Amino acid sequence: MIQQKICLLGSFSVGKTSLIRCYVDSIFTEKYLTTVGVKIDKKQIEFNGNAHSLMIWDIAGEDDFTSIRTAYLRGMSGYIIVIDPTRPHSYETALSIHDMVKTTVGNLPAVFALNKADLKSTWQFEAPQHQHLQQLGHPIVETSAKQNVGVETMFLKLVEQLGGQ
Ligand code: GDP
Repeated sequence: MIQQKICLLGSFSVGKTSLIRCYVDSIFTEKYLTTVGVKIDKKQIEFNGNAHSLMIWDIAGEDDFTSIRTAYLRGMSGYIIVIDPTRPHSYETALSIHDMVKTTVGNLPAVFALNKADLKSTWQFEAPQHQHLQQLGHPIVETSAKQNVGVETMFLKLVEQLGGQ
């Protein structure tokens, strides 16, 4: 069983940490905090008969993704870009991140998460934005870390693309 590194990326305060906390249960969790703004959780799961040992990297970024060191992406198997549709700026940031990751590490499995689905009545996310995201070719999952909606699905959509190794 190979450890697979997955990174949660996105603008500040979109809910990356909350999504990880929601997903990672206490049984298989080893948590630690580094001094360089990265927190790593581990979770072991079975999916389609394959065992996966996930290392989930929570990369604490500033609002501007340029502050995130691309070195953190090294060795990554796939990534989740989290958007908070109540804040349109986080959508723009998500597109920049996607561009940057593609340029830095190439085509990797990815998922877009539209988080804070419990606040959907306040989302500012229109059909053209949705269509544009779809054209990027990654699954789009609506999540609520607050209500535990779509969170496992979000991770499994990524694991599904990683395959069994
Ligand atoms: P991060 O900076 O991307 O790691 O974001 P956090 O996980 O720290 O969350 C930022 C804020 O959004 C916190 O106040 C969370 O309580 C809130 N938050 C995160 N996920 C959700 C969600 O699904 N629904 C709602 N209503 N609030 C959320």
